[in-house]
Amino acid sequence: MSYLSDRIQNIEPYVPGEQPKDGTYIKLNTNENPYPPSPKVIEAIKAAAGDRLRLYPDPECASLKSAYAASIGLRKENVFIGNGSDEVLAIAFQAFFMNKKEVLIPDISYSFYPVYADLYNVKCRIIPVMDDFRINIKDYMIPNSGIVIANPNAPTSLALSLSEIEDIIKNNRDSVVLIDEAYVDFGAESAVKLIEKYDNLLVTQTLSKSRSLAGLRVGFAAGSAELIRGMETVKNSFNSYTVDLLAQAGAEAAIKDCGYFEKMRNKVIGTRERTADRLREIGFEVLDSKTNFLFIHSRNKKAEDIFQYLRKNMILVRYFNKPRISDFLRVSIGTDEEMDNLLSCLSDYMI
Ligand SMILES: *Cc1c(COP(=O)(O)O)cnc(C)c1O
Repeated sequence: MSYLSDRIQNIEPYVPGEQPKDGTYIKLNTNENPYPPSPKVIEAIKAAAGDRLRLYPDPECASLKSAYAASIGLRKENVFIGNGSDEVLAIAFQAFFMNKKEVLIPDISYSFYPVYADLYNVKCRIIPVMDDFRINIKDYMIPNSGIVIANPNAPTSLALSLSEIEDIIKNNRDSVVLIDEAYVDFGAESAVKLIEKYDNLLVTQTLSKSRSLAGLRVGFAAGSAELIRGMETVKNSFNSYTVDLLAQAGAEAAIKDCGYFEKMRNKVIGTRERTADRLREIGFEVLDSKTNFLFIHSRNKKAEDIFQYLRKNMILVRYFNKPRISDFLRVSIGTDEEMDNLLSCLSDYMI
């Protein structure tokens, strides 16, 4: 006999990348931004950390919603705010896919999707990506009750073009197409501009990666007013206050500081390109990344051995012991200095 519900007994939860308690590792394993958030974010959080903490935060996130909506050229009723995009995704699964069947998900993608599917009783049809890890959009032109695609995809780092994304959306007008844009700021074209045209499109974004705010936990969804209303209904049926007062203040400051954002993302992109070139020179195959990480493969050394070797040298990267990708490593883009350290460590090992 167990006190747990059947569903929970049988669920395999998502396993996040390691967060070591001591700060001595070079941490390239969870796609965090190596640079601090905008100083304006810290100021805004400090200013908000006062007497008003007695009060509940604004359950509508009205001010933050307006700022985010303005930044993507939409209206308040087209945006949803949540406690990280993980929560936004969970709410979307409940609002659009729960108890439905045949939601299409690529086999190599964000490993949280199948976990939500299990938790919310969503049947998935797993669609294999091609041998080169690209998503073949023709595979998504079959009957379904929903589609979930990360663009750019993780952990492959590859992006679909906006016209490919549009083909998927317009050929699936009877189901919700969810495009997870956690990494979009590092080189893909956002599907947000298609929202006015297609009311079955939901786009999710996050402050965790390109805005250096993984610790603040703020994520977004953008879509038609009808989709957003559905998500608000789910949220207000379990917790009206998922985004706390400090997070709302910090997030709004982050969105408004465009100059800092541009500077930092360009820095990460520059470091990514330089690192990818060097890795190719020392014998790695490196996929064409549009993200803040690289997905790499060596023909003559085992990924798991490289992972262990780097770990011994105080560098953490991500190794997935999973079918099709167990020969690959996912390496987040750190500072130039951190990447130099990685490169010199790897070139010693690869000889
Ligand atoms: C990091 C990531 C998320 C989650 O972001 P949070 O906003 O920190 O919850 C969602 N989707 C993908 C593909 C990610 O890599």
